[in-house]
Amino acid sequence: MSTSTQPSPVSSPPSPSASPSPPAPAAAASQSSFVAQLCFGAIAEDLIVPYPKMKAGDQETFKQIRSSIEQLLKSKEKNLREWDAKGEFPPEFIEELRQFGLFSLVIPEAHGGMQLSTTAYSRTLQELAKYDGSVAVTIGAHSSIGMRGLLLFGTDEQKQRYLPKLVTGEMIAAFCLTEPSSGSDAASILSTAVRDGDDWVLNGDKLWITNGGIAQFFTVFAKTGQQGERSNVTAFIVTRDMTGVTTGPHEDKMGLRASSTTTVTFDNVRVPAANVLGEVGKGFKVAMKILNSGRTGLGGGAVGAMKRCIELCTKQAKERVQFGKPIAEFGLIKQKIGHMVVDCYATESAVNMVNHLIDNGAEEYAVEAAITKVFGSEALWRCADEALQIAGGNGFMKDFPYEKIVRDARINRIYEGTNEILRLFISLTAMNEVGSELKELSNSLKGIFDNPIKGFGVISEYARRRASLATSVVKREKSQFTRLHPAVQSQQMVFQELTRDLATAVDRVLRKHGKAIIGKQFASRRLADMMIDLFTLACTLSRVSTAVAEKGAASVTKELEILEVFTGQVKRRVRSNLSKIDENDDELIKSIADHALDAEAYSWDNVT
Ligand SMILES: Cc1cc2nc3c(=O)[nH]c(=O)nc-3n(C[C@H](O)[C@H](O)[C@H](O)COP(=O)(O)OP(=O)(O)OC[C@H]3O[C@@H](n4cnc5c(N)ncnc54)[C@H](O)[C@@H]3O)c2cc1C
Repeated sequence: MSTSTQPSPVSSPPSPSASPSPPAPAAAASQSSFVAQLCFGAIAEDLIVPYPKMKAGDQETFKQIRSSIEQLLKSKEKNLREWDAKGEFPPEFIEELRQFGLFSLVIPEAHGGMQLSTTAYSRTLQELAKYDGSVAVTIGAHSSIGMRGLLLFGTDEQKQRYLPKLVTGEMIAAFCLTEPSSGSDAASILSTAVRDGDDWVLNGDKLWITNGGIAQFFTVFAKTGQQGERSNVTAFIVTRDMTGVTTGPHEDKMGLRASSTTTVTFDNVRVPAANVLGEVGKGFKVAMKILNSGRTGLGGGAVGAMKRCIELCTKQAKERVQFGKPIAEFGLIKQKIGHMVVDCYATESAVNMVNHLIDNGAEEYAVEAAITKVFGSEALWRCADEALQIAGGNGFMKDFPYEKIVRDARINRIYEGTNEILRLFISLTAMNEVGSELKELSNSLKGIFDNPIKGFGVISEYARRRASLATSVVKREKSQFTRLHPAVQSQQMVFQELTRDLATAVDRVLRKHGKAIIGKQFASRRLADMMIDLFTLACTLSRVSTAVAEKGAASVTKELEILEVFTGQVKRRVRSNLSKIDENDDELIKSIADHALDAEAYSWDNVT
């Protein structure tokens, strides 16, 4: 390991700058989320315009962190590849991460940590991910999920006891939810904890736990209700020194190979009642809150990896000569690079926005955070795949970095909520309020003869909204942006039209399926995809508009081009999803899948 330059540890953040922070969108705590409002056809402009800037204090802190990370990781490219091949980090490297203070990022200053804002933390993960996915996930699992429960739900006594060790990395944290028979269906866990005097006796097997092999602090979820009861889960703080805690060998993985992933087993572990996190029986909520609040870290990581792909493949495309020219001059190579940049810019726009909403105290951001995870992980997958393609055969070789980036990128679509589950979550959560309104409407209709005035009032309000959506002649309050720069007017108009499309689609799907929408995954997915695209476009629109307002259109011509391309992509996808609500091949696809499932094979091999 190179020690030629002794990198300086990441230092504590400077005290918040006295300079006024730039005007930033307000996040009203009680307001429903941007996407939930979009489902009604309303554009909650105040939440996202103007586009937020990183606060001056955060910028200062981040610059120091960035240069420390560069000193720590830039010289280790070869080591990182060796550790990836070997499938683990050496203990000395984990010690270096400790010395650098990388386990202290989100811990409050009062406990000796750096207390990074969500924005600065996500940006830090982005920087780590540029160098190595395994390093990013080791730090991310500790900060985003491993000890997040302690920060969100811990008592003062629990924080006093554990944070001093977590801040130095003497204790590394892990999050233990998944079990052999319980993945996406987290409520089906089989681990149990039974109260016995002042303790809970914990038994269970956890699977694929990031940091499992190096952690001393585990946030563990176990059933505390009756056998067979689906809810009634409780979260516990468990430490490695408790008798009965064991971890398995490092899993041999496709990607993120150097990061530690192991089983964690609890065999009659006596956990003091004082180690319950949050309320007994409310552990499922604890788990979901942790995952929701940590999700933008993953989006940040995706942005970092995309930036690295762009750096690598642009150099490669200029150096590689074929047919007498650098391949960078060929249209099909430019096409890939252009799309990679658009994907990266759009993801970054959404990730920064959600970080800002969280830092500004918004309570309703779970849908938007899930959107950054889904869009970011899929954008990174496209980007990593195309970067490898640009490198050609070299991309497939272990001597080059591309194949590792592809391997590392793949897991992002699976963990912290699979993209399938998150799509269902996004659409069902975001349209919940529309559903409630429709329910109220039907309740009112039921009582229409008892209370005709109330009943007709509801109908006329709803009819007005429907007319507004259908014709776009009657402009509903808040159905337009009012504060975007005129330079983005044509994209603004497209966004407004597509918002009406989304509201129409939500209305139509809910009327068609009612409560049964929960089982209609094809329809839910279409709506989710419309929401994902529209939220990401709204953030991109706000960012470019704010950039034009601040720097002038002539200085941001490339950003205007990115916006134009992304708007076109979103328009085509949203329109396609809308058109498929009533006319689609869903039933045919299901029938073909059922056939393959029955046969457990492809049935038409031409050699029988
Ligand atoms: C490298 C790695 C690190 C991990 N780290 C951790 C960790 O630190 N802590 C932890 O607790 N867990 C961790 N996990 C586990 C991870 O969170 C799970 O893999 C993930 O939640 C998915 O569960 P599963 O793998 O059991 O897939 P399953 O739930 O079995 O899903 C399989 C497929 O079915 C789909 N599916 C499932 N249900 C539905 C449905 N209702 N509708 C439609 N599609 C559905 C899924 O989207 C997926 O495509 C890690 C996993 C890996 C691979």
